[in-house]
Amino acid sequence: MVKMKHKVTFIPGDGVGPELSEAAKRCIDAACASAGAAIEWEAFDAGIDVVEKYGTPLPEHVLASIRKNKVAIKGPITTPIGTGIRSVNVELRKALELYACLRPCKSYKGVRSRYSDVDLVIVRENTEDLYAGVEFESETPESKKVIDTVNSLSKKQVRPGSAISIKPISREGSERIVKFAFDYAVKNNRKKVTCIHKANIMKATDGLFLATARRVAERYSGKVNFEDRIVDNICMQLVQRPEEYDVLVLPNLYGDIISDLCAGLVGGLGMAPGANIGDGVAVFEATHGSAPKYKGMNKVNPTAMILSGMLMLRHLGENEAALKLENAVKKVIADGAHVTYDMKADRNDPTAVGTREMADAIIKALK
Ligand code: NAD
Repeated sequence: MVKMKHKVTFIPGDGVGPELSEAAKRCIDAACASAGAAIEWEAFDAGIDVVEKYGTPLPEHVLASIRKNKVAIKGPITTPIGTGIRSVNVELRKALELYACLRPCKSYKGVRSRYSDVDLVIVRENTEDLYAGVEFESETPESKKVIDTVNSLSKKQVRPGSAISIKPISREGSERIVKFAFDYAVKNNRKKVTCIHKANIMKATDGLFLATARRVAERYSGKVNFEDRIVDNICMQLVQRPEEYDVLVLPNLYGDIISDLCAGLVGGLGMAPGANIGDGVAVFEATHGSAPKYKGMNKVNPTAMILSGMLMLRHLGENEAALKLENAVKKVIADGAHVTYDMKADRNDPTAVGTREMADAIIKALK
């Protein structure tokens, strides 16, 4: 018997986005069908291609659909460099207050990686830090005013003519992301949260993040362990001993960088799913971008998008469909016959299949 249909906003994205999103949608539908669940998709485009029509890369009706449905899945969207157009991905997170970026990085048997037992969860703050977009270009009246003000207030002087990016980190923003990490740990039976920072140098901003994390951690004492690491040190430690870490909580920029590092530990960007979560709204998307050079080639790995769909099914409470989908992905990867070029020992291996064919194999493995 089919249960109530879940309404989900579907944003295909651009570059390789549409082919990956379509592959993920087919796999999600098949997993739902095998578990008696169903999704009603509401599809909308966003990004540079809709600017001419709507005057913005992120039209209001797209946001309205996500606000109404409370759940969306999106393909990657290109951020053109040097056009003045801001990242749709960043704007979406801000507009919907999707303050937590959740990125599980897990080893699957059969994936080509130097590591076999990685099971990390990255919790990245999504709205503050150097991503706040408060920036002043060099040699402008605004940047001059900022520099004059800073120089009048601080013993440390900013060189005239500098470009300025502001790094705001608030107590509230830090508190809610650290709390999210601990709540996730409790709910998912995780043992430890590691707070990552550079508080030895950025005593004000990262210092506040760390102090807040320590305070929040006290509330979970006895349930979840807590420790902190300096960001450069954790880069080395993750490469040497990733199995020692569990849930990582980070400010925005470090979260961005460490996400790619951890994707590398589990087989690359093609393997790294993600979710952007706020109070009552969630948008699921892979960690990777739109890989424009592979656009339309039916070549890149759909796993990250499909596993983002698996996270979405879990979020919707469709645990059976989620488990079936993850198991089907695992089976196809372990079998190794129907995987994309990036999962082969030799990237030119002629037996690599395309995006569509890998999705077909996953759907077959569901049966
Ligand atoms: P990218 O992640 O798009 O690609 C970097 C490289 O990683 C690719 O060339 C490819 O070799 C590999 N790769 C990425 N996805 C893969 C997949 N599914 N399977 C196999 N290999 C894969 O990063 P980029 O080139 O820095 O960014 C391209 C565009 O994407 C930029 O405009 C950037 O702003 C945007 N971007 C969007 C998002 C998002 O939508 N959330 C995230 C990151 C980057």
